[in-house]
This record gives sequence, structure tokens and C-alpha cells, in this order.
Amino acid sequence: MHVFGPVPSRRLRRSLGVNNIPFKYCSYSCVYCQLGRTDKLTVERREFFDPQLIFKEVRRRVGEVGEVDYISFVPDGEPTLDANLGVEIELLKELGRVAVITNSSLLFREDVKADLLEADLVSLKVDAVEEKAWRKINRPHRSLNLEKILDGMLRFAEEYTGILITETMLIDSCATLESVEKIAEFLGMLKPHTAYLAIPTRPPAEKVRGVSMDFILEAKRIFGKYVNTELLIEAESGEFAIKSREDVLSIASVHPLREDVLAGYLKKLNLRIEDLADELEKVEFGSVKYYRRKI
Ligand code: SF4
Repeated sequence: MHVFGPVPSRRLRRSLGVNNIPFKYCSYSCVYCQLGRTDKLTVERREFFDPQLIFKEVRRRVGEVGEVDYISFVPDGEPTLDANLGVEIELLKELGRVAVITNSSLLFREDVKADLLEADLVSLKVDAVEEKAWRKINRPHRSLNLEKILDGMLRFAEEYTGILITETMLIDSCATLESVEKIAEFLGMLKPHTAYLAIPTRPPAEKVRGVSMDFILEAKRIFGKYVNTELLIEAESGEFAIKSREDVLSIASVHPLREDVLAGYLKKLNLRIEDLADELEKVEFGSVKYYRRKI
């Protein structure tokens, strides 16, 4: 299954998720990744799935759930590793507006840039603009070069005519007000429509925590000198479109579900959490229990 949702999203409103990457193929292994550590760390673009198959699945789902705000590439890994991404964007634009959430690491490549120029909304990850912090937070593939990545983002932003947004995750053990100022200066050059400041709200790959509320408010003030800034500091609320056991599993593979939220959905389906014990695993974050799909 390559389609999940619609999921409620602060950034993308009612968004139908497209999963065009096998689990955890990524060029980064971010310490806060809610999918766990990356076991397929790669920068090689390749064909994973038939674009027509993805198109047909999305078309069927749009027929079932009605209009959505965005058809969004938010896969189990980095969407630009898919060599068919450009073809898929072109096909899906027949069905609605297309968004791509990328970690930005391959945007220095002309083919990746050309693919993303066709999307209606692109979200770029900008967690760090300094080498040491970048390696600590994003744990990139060894062939990647931060300067090239930042330059690729700037060149993309100059040409892009859609809605450009950014996301910056603030981790307690890495963020300083100086590093925040440097990221903000970079974003001032990038000129996104909105820069989102985030902290982990679901169980991360490593034992890391988001920054304190005082820090994030100060970071927002600093960002605000350069760009329009919003906070993403709470788990997105609202209704996931869950109508079947398969819907639960496809959402849980990309969005760990809080125990009480999951129990509510399962009740409507006359299921219990134990009925999915073979497919879901429990993870704890703070004092809250979540369930995500076992891989
Ligand atoms: S957060 Fe995104 S970029 Fe980072 S490891 Fe997870 S999938 Fe890859």
C-alpha cells in the first residue's frame, strides 16, 4: 500500500499521504526520527515502485475520501531517493495539489531539483547549518556535503514558484541560541513562506528531548527577525481517516499512534489493540505510550 490517510496536518491541512519509498531508505539517520534508526543509509536514486500503480492507488483513495488539500509525499524514508518522483508528481497533479516533504540532502542534484520544481508545495528540512551540529542531529550518509546541500537549497528557492516552507527540529543536546541565529540567517536568504520550528512529539530513534518552552519561544523570536515563523510543538490533532484495519496499519507505519487515540479508532472497528499484536509494537515517549508498525 502506497497511500495513507487523509491525515490532519498543521502545515498541509487535510493531507493524503503517499509512500513512495520502502521502509527507512534514507540519506540521513536523524536522532529524532520517529521511524527509528536508518538501516538503508543511501544516496543512490533508484526506481522502487511502478508510478502507475501509485497513481491508481491515490486515484482510488481520492474517490473514497473526497477532495483533500494536498497529496503529500511523506514516506517511510527520503522521497527524493525515488528516481520516479518527477513522473509521479506529474501524474498526481491530475488529482490535486502535490506536496513533498524532503530532508533537502539531494537538492543539489539537478534531477532532484527539476522534480521538486513541479510540486505545488515543498517542505525543506533545515536542522543545522554548521557541520558539527548537522552530523550530530542528521547523521548523514558519508558522501554528503553540507555546503553543497545549503547551496542547493538556495538555488532551488531562487527558481521555485510554489509554496516553500521549512522545518527545523530543536534538540535539547544540540541547539544553542547561537546555532539558532545562524539557521535563522540562512532562512533569511532562503525566504520560505513559513519556517516551522519543531520539537519531537512522537518517540524518537534515540533518547533525545526537545528544547524547553522558554528556549523555543526565544528561538521563535530570533527566527522572527528573518522569516515568518510558526511552532510545531504538539502532536497534530484531529481525525485520521481510518475505516479499516489496513488504514490503521498504513498510518501506524509512518505516524506512531498514541495509545488512547489508537484505542478509539479500534473501538469503532470492533477491534482491540491485542488483535494487532503481531503487527504493532509499543514504544514509550515521556510518560505516553505509542504504537507503531513492526517492520
Ligand atoms: S527524519 Fe526524515 S530525514 Fe531524518 S532519518 Fe527520518 S526519514 Fe530520514
